[in-house]
Amino acid sequence: MDIRTKAGELVSINPADGSEVARVAVTTPQELDAIVARAQKAYRETGWKELMPHKRAEVLHAIANGLLAEKETLASLQMRDNGKPISECRGMVDYAVGTFRYYASVCETLETDVTPRRGDYVSFTVLEPYGVVAAITPWNSPIMNDAAKIAPALAAGNAVILKPSEDAPLLAPELVRIAAAAGLPDGLLQVVQGYGADIGAALVAHKGVGMISFTGGTATGRAIGRVAGERIVPVALELGGKSPHVVFADANLEHAVAAVAAGIFGSSGQSCVAGSRLLVEESVYDEVVTRLVERAKRIVVAAPDAKGVEVGPLASFHHRDRVHAFVERARAEGGRVLCGGSAPEGAAYETGAYYLPTVIDGLPHDALSCQEEAFGPVLVVLPFKDEADLVAKANGTDFGLACGIWTENFKKAWRTGRALEAGSVWINTYKQSVTSTPFGGFKDSGIGREKGIDGLRLYAQVKSMYFGLHENPLPIAK
Ligand code: NAD
Repeated sequence: MDIRTKAGELVSINPADGSEVARVAVTTPQELDAIVARAQKAYRETGWKELMPHKRAEVLHAIANGLLAEKETLASLQMRDNGKPISECRGMVDYAVGTFRYYASVCETLETDVTPRRGDYVSFTVLEPYGVVAAITPWNSPIMNDAAKIAPALAAGNAVILKPSEDAPLLAPELVRIAAAAGLPDGLLQVVQGYGADIGAALVAHKGVGMISFTGGTATGRAIGRVAGERIVPVALELGGKSPHVVFADANLEHAVAAVAAGIFGSSGQSCVAGSRLLVEESVYDEVVTRLVERAKRIVVAAPDAKGVEVGPLASFHHRDRVHAFVERARAEGGRVLCGGSAPEGAAYETGAYYLPTVIDGLPHDALSCQEEAFGPVLVVLPFKDEADLVAKANGTDFGLACGIWTENFKKAWRTGRALEAGSVWINTYKQSVTSTPFGGFKDSGIGREKGIDGLRLYAQVKSMYFGLHENPLPIAK
């Protein structure tokens, strides 16, 4: 939970117990101008973009080392800032370390691509940075989302201004501190703090920003895209989802149910790729739903540092209210709440933003609850008749971020995987992620791909160069 105090601060509240973790100062418009000017100066004058890629790589590796050396402190800070279980927070620090290492290792791909032509000139391309990149991130996985932008943007030679969420502001300054200690030249990575509608919007509109990389909700992405279009600056958008998790009758149901539960209840459902719509083939519908509800009821909801915790609190008290309102609307739309649907009872939960794993069925596919993102531990379940019905339902939302498919039939998996409109398709697994494999959305789930080589090229523009080797002056007409 955050509170804007009179003194212009954000107050980070631990959603596990309501205690204050820390305060950060909100960046003023005057400070923003100075920060952008400093980033531009660093971009122009530190020689970062002219460094040999392997020299930039050394700094990125040093940042990775710095993150690793402080893994426990960073994981604990993120846990208190946004309530995720400590094991997940440790995993996110590891992921950030891997991201810096990966982009250190692929820096060399920014070297030129030479195409010899005819006898009188050669042409080649170079990748050039954009200058100052605005990296705007959400609250759900701060260190991971921040690293996914900073590492490739720096690898490509840019300066970065990071704008973390007002609901999880504490990791970003740590990243800046660690990067400076690792030898990143002054001014190349800075942070602005505050509300999206204020400082976020001002950053996006700032003339000194040459590229915008945004992760967050679709409505915000649309607003940022409009500004980017007006300004004609490139924009990458990683947005929301309502990802279908599909279980065919021939699937290994034990594995499928476990993955469906992990896919929606892990991180309390606060994951862009949460498998929040379960589509089950009619003949196994009752069996799958029964098993799933049994599993959901056994999930250990506890403090994020408690032994055996599977699901911690939501990231803020106001977000828990939003999730509960979503469930109430599903009830009003005719949904049957099969488990959950409220905060857990008991003294241990009274001071935290906890919410029970919730399964809802009986809704028509066009109900808002089946179309909109809850971003919480809320799963809607629908039956499907055959592959045609499945594809129509799975593709029947505006989103297209991810999907999961469970079947033992390879050809069916292939057909369905190709038919579903999603940037990531998981077959007989879910939510796997490696830094070398691109990630991003179809349809309203976004534009552009993070991770992989695509994630590096996002932060660089192609320049084509021709070198003349002519023996004679150029003629007017050839
Ligand atoms: P949000 O859109 O409310 O905010 C995201 C960030 O944008 C925050 O830093 C916020 O301060 C800033 N912001 C808000 N309005 C802005 C504006 N007008 N101009 C500039 N910046 C602005 O999203 P959230 O609630 O923080 O995060 C949840 C959403 O993020 C969910 O929809 C989730 O699916 C999505 N998400 C997507 C991915 C992905 O990779 N596709 C990953 C994580 C989260």
